[in-house]
Amino acid sequence: MAALIDGKAMAQQLIDEVKGGVTEFSQRYGSVPGLAVVLVGDDPASQVYVRNKVKRAHEVGMTSIEHQLPDDCSQHTLNQLIAELNADPAVHGILVQLPLPAQLNEKEIIAAIAAEKDVDSFHPLNVGALVTAEANLVPCTPLGCLMMLRQVCDDLSGKHAVVIGRSNIVGKPMAALLLQENCTVTTVHSHSRDIEQICQQADIVIAAVGRPELIKSHWIKPGAVVIDVGINAVVQDQTRKLVGDVDFADVEPVASAITPVPGGVGPMTIACLMKNTLTAAEALHAGQPNKLAS
Ligand code: NAD
Repeated sequence: MAALIDGKAMAQQLIDEVKGGVTEFSQRYGSVPGLAVVLVGDDPASQVYVRNKVKRAHEVGMTSIEHQLPDDCSQHTLNQLIAELNADPAVHGILVQLPLPAQLNEKEIIAAIAAEKDVDSFHPLNVGALVTAEANLVPCTPLGCLMMLRQVCDDLSGKHAVVIGRSNIVGKPMAALLLQENCTVTTVHSHSRDIEQICQQADIVIAAVGRPELIKSHWIKPGAVVIDVGINAVVQDQTRKLVGDVDFADVEPVASAITPVPGGVGPMTIACLMKNTLTAAEALHAGQPNKLAS
């Protein structure tokens, strides 16, 4: 049976570390890091995500500044708010909850956020820095996945990692991070052929697809590590529940380690957001917003 990678417990440990970092920060600078969270519209899932992020920010002792804008908010209004937050010295991290309503240009909004306050790390400058292994801020979900991998793999070097999915927020940055760890990385996506056979060769499988329980045991090499990023709401036996992209019950006997859904990557993503906000605040106060990661 696979070892369970307990994202909830790992996230709590990271939250406690960040809390310690916030205390040190406030002793050094006489203020606490500030995270601005911008929510446009009233999408229920986004509201839950924002609530959880704000709750965690308070838990680690940061200030969280919430901005709720109406569903029909204009690009100009949102740009203006971003400009104000960029200029506000009490704000160290800016997060715009995605997806945005259709009338808003997501790319333009992301690019408007000051790169050094971009705690989601989606700004083109931060994307470039990640690819060249110079990033100070790393996208939260891939960062959480990497921490979980490190928990069960002493050395990632030379391992064959297959990333399923190539989104800008998960698949692509995940592949870049794994390359940085000296893995041999294959990315497969909706146009790829022979996905099952490619996965069968993997020492590490990262599933970020958004298809409930797509990945079955025969896709997985015995002893592989499986990280399930997917969060899919399904109805089973008339009950609504969340499942991953991996068929957990089927894959668990084959893998050497696996993350559950819920309680896996999800909690780590939010904990990494807190870590990124502290990292951004430290870099801004040290006057080195472009400080390179070691
Ligand atoms: P996305 O829809 O932007 O991208 C999905 C990717 O999967 C695409 O690149 C597509 O090419 C690929 N794909 C689709 N069908 C496929 C198939 N049959 N075979 C192989 N590849 C296929 O999604 P995303 O934003 O990357 O999110 C993926 C999943 O992860 C979703 O379930 C999302 O809810 C979840 N997610 C979880 C967290 C977290 O914190 N745990 C964070 C972000 C996303």
